[in-house]
Amino acid sequence: MNTRSVTNIINGQATSDGAGVELLRMIGQPGLMELDPFLLLDAFRSDDPQDYIAGFPAHPHRGFETVTYLQNGRMRHRDNNGNEGVIEPGGIQWMTAGRGIVHSEMPEQEDGLLAGYQLWINLPAAHKMTQPAYQEHDAAQIPVETRSGASIKVIAGSTSQGTAGPVSQPLTEPLYLDVALQPGAQFAETLPPLHNAFIQLIEGELTIVDDERSSTLKRDQLAVLGNGERVIVQAGAQDARFLLVAGKPLNETIARAGPFVMNTEAELRQAFSDYQSGRF
Ligand code: FE
Repeated sequence: MNTRSVTNIINGQATSDGAGVELLRMIGQPGLMELDPFLLLDAFRSDDPQDYIAGFPAHPHRGFETVTYLQNGRMRHRDNNGNEGVIEPGGIQWMTAGRGIVHSEMPEQEDGLLAGYQLWINLPAAHKMTQPAYQEHDAAQIPVETRSGASIKVIAGSTSQGTAGPVSQPLTEPLYLDVALQPGAQFAETLPPLHNAFIQLIEGELTIVDDERSSTLKRDQLAVLGNGERVIVQAGAQDARFLLVAGKPLNETIARAGPFVMNTEAELRQAFSDYQSGRF
């Protein structure tokens, strides 16, 4: 089997978004503008309310999906179709913005730790104007697969041992795993060979093992994986935790501006115009 090697290690870019939320932008920054079909990955983790309390007041999206995975804290979302709810620790909100949604994402807390990730996944041209939809699951609905030294939360897609996550998206076939390893434990997983894939290290130290040349990730770094049939990783001297995410590339032209991701500049202008005239 062909083992995936690391093609690039990304350090997040500290940035501020929404009404002043401090983030580490992993994908969607000069070091890694996109990893088809992934358009953006933001990491947030702070116990200082000044870093998150302003939240993300009402803003639009069109043409892709936003995936919010919360580890600590609570986040309330509301949209212009009357949908509302709170994402709790360990919960996932997979929002297909499609033709357009206007929503707010606000911390449901005044202090304490808020931590998690938001990933943007592109939609193919033929599906960008689909009806908005949600797949929402709390921690209890996310299966946990146990292997020697490893515990794997399966959020989307299926593992090689057949554990299936609650989220499915046939357009990009995403795999989204949250893997915890004991010190020194190894973890191997097969991946569709042509899917783009990355590992985001949440804590500890992780070596991506490869016949040619192994690479070690430090906390908050992201590794872009080359193509191949499997990935092998090993935790360092402490517990390690990471996201392993893979998806089918769309290989389409991308025209993006802020919260809109379309295929052409004309479609972007249309998105702005539709939003400004209240057609979302
Ligand atoms: Fe949003």
